[in-house]
Amino acid sequence: MSEDLKKQYAVMGISEEVYTYGEKTEKALKSRFDEIDEIAEFNQMKVLTAMQEHKVSEACLLGTTGYGYNDLGRDTLEQVYASVFHTQDALVRPQITCGTHALALALMSNLRPGDELLSPAGKPYDTLEEVIGIRPSKGSLQEYGISYRQVDLLPDGSFDYDNIKKAIHEKTRLVTIQRSKGYQTRPTFSVAQIGELIAFIKGIKPDIICMVDNCYGEFVEKLEPTDMGADMVVGSLIKNPGGGLAPIGGYIAGKHECVENAAYRLTSPGLGKEVGASLGILSSFYQGLFLAPTVTAGALKGAVFAANIYEKLGFAVVPNGQESRHDIIQAVTFGTPEGVIAFCRGIQAAAPVDAHVAPEPWDMPGYDAKVIMAAGAFVSGSSIELSADGPIKPPYAVYFQGGLTWQHAKYGILKSLQSLVDEGIVSKLFP
Ligand SMILES: *Cc1c(COP(=O)(O)O)cnc(C)c1O
Repeated sequence: MSEDLKKQYAVMGISEEVYTYGEKTEKALKSRFDEIDEIAEFNQMKVLTAMQEHKVSEACLLGTTGYGYNDLGRDTLEQVYASVFHTQDALVRPQITCGTHALALALMSNLRPGDELLSPAGKPYDTLEEVIGIRPSKGSLQEYGISYRQVDLLPDGSFDYDNIKKAIHEKTRLVTIQRSKGYQTRPTFSVAQIGELIAFIKGIKPDIICMVDNCYGEFVEKLEPTDMGADMVVGSLIKNPGGGLAPIGGYIAGKHECVENAAYRLTSPGLGKEVGASLGILSSFYQGLFLAPTVTAGALKGAVFAANIYEKLGFAVVPNGQESRHDIIQAVTFGTPEGVIAFCRGIQAAAPVDAHVAPEPWDMPGYDAKVIMAAGAFVSGSSIELSADGPIKPPYAVYFQGGLTWQHAKYGILKSLQSLVDEGIVSKLFP
């Protein structure tokens, strides 16, 4: 145990007791961390191979203006993404404003009036409820005559294959599978599980488009859902694949036809991928993708560390301290609004930006309850950076994610624990 490290943490508001508890927890995680590093190494090579294969050059890092015709950097980056995800094509654009936009785009461009969308993995991410029209909303799929059906997971979190089979009929056109748990306490699906589900669905109706909401899942495993039969993967560049450097953007990687449909919807029929100036943003997209495997690994270590820290204190954690990981999110259930708020304030206090402000619960657009968010990020709202969200509703769970470096994630978690100790919510670290 290093004395100067302990002193530095003391300067940063971490008590000796919290520090010692953290060191003990970390020591026990050595082999888990080695596994995470091996996956990062594999994915680093995958990204590097894709960049070399498509001859990324200095000219690719520059941008275009206006219409953005013949944007070498943009077009090459899309090929690089297609190679990383082993797909025919990809759309990677700053004009895709966020993950919800990317998902909405993929859905709206690949579904037509009269089609049905099926979610075989239960309720999708909160913001998609309005995209689909589960909660009535202007411009929803429902307004365009696209119906929706959902099959909930079985109580143990597995797929309800019998009812999925019954839910598929001639109008079922697209299946949306959310890899990450999002704001739920169900388990996140592994790429292998998603592959099994896709094989089952294609066995019933081969022409169904299988789309995976890949948010928070990229580079957590060696394989991606497109390696296991997904027709499209969709995600946000201010999460894993942007590596913390992309300041905006989303991607859709998949079958040529799916990506083309999305491009015609993003810009215009007739224009598709040919327009869309990249301005000066591409070097951050390239460099962010290059860093994404190691940044994701740091965030993953933070999630495993948080699970072990809070599990031993008796809080429910999903995933638990031991199980394998398929996304970077860690849910911790505190059971009270005070616990959620204290945790988020600790994370905020650990930030490089805005550490001096205290977050408050607020009515965030797209969500049906007040949400408290801790985010002291270089990129506003970026959740590959150390951040935490907690909807102020039962079971009063927080969803913690990110950390551009493992060291920062660790400090954030220690700071959250210190905040709970200071508030008297946690009283005994060593029983
Ligand atoms: C973050 C996220 C989204 C939405 O992304 P935004 O960028 O917040 O709009 C959708 N699905 C999942 C699983 C997510 O984690």
